Amino acid sequence: MAEEKSAAEQLREQLCNTRKNGRLTADDETLATADRYCEGYKQFINTAKTEREAAAAAVRLAEAKGFVPFEIGKKYESGDKVYFNNRGKTVAFAVIGTEPIENGFNITAAHIDSPRLDLKPNPLYEELELGLFKTHYYGGIRKYQWPTVPLALHGVFVKKDGTVIPVTLGEAADEPKFVVNDLLPHLAAEQSKRPLSEGIRGEELNVLVGSHPFREDKGSELVKLNILKLLNEKYGVCEEDFLSAELELVPAFPACDIGFDRSLIGGYGQDDRVCAYPALTAILAVEKPKRTALAILTDKEEIGSVGNTGLSSSFLRYIAGDLAAIQHADPTVALRHSRCLSADVNAGMDPTFQDVFERRNASKLNYGVVVTKYTGARGKSSTSDASAEYMAEVRELLDRTGIIWQTGELGKVDIGGGGTVAMFIADLGVDVVDLGVPVLSMHAPFETTAKLDVYMCYRAMFEFMK
Ligand code: MN
Ligand code: MN
Repeated sequence: MAEEKSAAEQLREQLCNTRKNGRLTADDETLATADRYCEGYKQFINTAKTEREAAAAAVRLAEAKGFVPFEIGKKYESGDKVYFNNRGKTVAFAVIGTEPIENGFNITAAHIDSPRLDLKPNPLYEELELGLFKTHYYGGIRKYQWPTVPLALHGVFVKKDGTVIPVTLGEAADEPKFVVNDLLPHLAAEQSKRPLSEGIRGEELNVLVGSHPFREDKGSELVKLNILKLLNEKYGVCEEDFLSAELELVPAFPACDIGFDRSLIGGYGQDDRVCAYPALTAILAVEKPKRTALAILTDKEEIGSVGNTGLSSSFLRYIAGDLAAIQHADPTVALRHSRCLSADVNAGMDPTFQDVFERRNASKLNYGVVVTKYTGARGKSSTSDASAEYMAEVRELLDRTGIIWQTGELGKVDIGGGGTVAMFIADLGVDVVDLGVPVLSMHAPFETTAKLDVYMCYRAMFEFMK
C-alpha cells in the first residue's frame, strides 16, 4: 500500500519551487537524445574555434538545409529560408513566418567569438635564438591559465590585392603546435609573490614559434628569417602581411566527454558556441513558423559587442529593415513587437568555489537551460532586466513544452557581474531575456558543460522559434 502524503508534503508540492536535478527527472530517451545531440555539438566546436570559422560552418550547415543568401528586392513567401552574412564574422538566419512581419520576430541571438590570444600587428621577433609572437589577449581571460597549453593558429592574412589566405595550423595530430612558456617552480619564488591576476602579465603572453636558424653564418635573427621563409613558402606572405591579418591562438585540443559517466563535455570556446550551436540547429529545424524566426550568431560580444560585426552596431536594425521591406512593412513596428532569447552562458555553481555564489539563485549543472533575468554589476547597472510580463511568457513556454530549466544569477551581489548582447537588442525595443547553458571554468582554455543542459538549450530555442 502506497503511503499517504502528509499535509505538509502535499502543500509543499502545491506551493514550493522544487526543481530537481534533470538527470533524475528526465526519461532515458531524453538522456539518450541529449547524448546524440552533443556528438554534433562537439564536432561543431572542433571545427569552429573562431568567429570566422563558426560563421562559415553555420552557413555550410544552413545551405544544406535550403537557406540562401538574402537578396534585396526579391520576393519571399512564408517558409522561405534566408541568411545574412556580415563580413564573414556575424551571420543571421531567418525563416519567413505566416503572420505579417509587423507582428514581430522571434529572435535568438548567441555569440561565436571566444576569449583567446590575438597576434599584434608586428608579432614576430627573435630573442636568444628563439622565434616568438607578441600577442594581445582578446576578451576577459585569466592570463595565468594560458601558458603551457598547446595552441593552434587560426585566422587570415589579407594581401594588399584583397586575396584572403586562411590559416589553420596545429589542429591535426601531425601538425606543429605553439605554446606560451612559464617559469619553473625552482626560479619562480619572486613571480609566485605576485597577485594571481599578475601571475602572468599581458606582455608575458609571448608564443614560442620556432628555433631553427636559416643556415648561413652571416647576419643576425636567422631564426626569425627562417620562420619568414617557411611562412612565405606555405602561405605566400612576407612580414608586412601581418599588418593586414587577423591571427588568433586558441587551444589546440578537441572537445571531449568528461567523467566516468560521460555526462559532461570539456572543450575550448563553449562560451558561447554552446548556445550558438543550439540556436543554429534550432532554426535549421524550423519549417513554417507563425512569426518570422531569426537566429543571429554574432561577433565581438567578448569585448563589449563593439564594431560593425558586434550587436551594438546597426546591423540587426538593417536586417529587420531588409526583412520588413519584403512586405513593404515598417521595421520599427516589427522590432517593437519582437521578442528575443539572448542565448549566453551563465556561471554554474562550482563545488570548490561556492563562496562567490548565492546558492538560492545560482545555476547548477544538469538542472537544465538557465534563464537569467538580468546580468550587470553593482546594482544591475549595464544590463537589460527582463520584465515580469516577458518572464511569465518564457516560463509558460518552457513549462508547456516540458523543457528542464532553472534560473540563475552571475554570482553574489557586488561580487559577480557581466554583460551579454541582451541590452543591445533591448535598445531596439525588443522584449529580451538571457537564456543559456551553465558553464564551469568560463573563459578558461578548457570549459565544462553538461550534456543535458546543452540539449535543453536547443529545445528551448526550437520551441521559441518554431
Ligand atoms: Mn558569453
Ligand atoms: Mn564570455
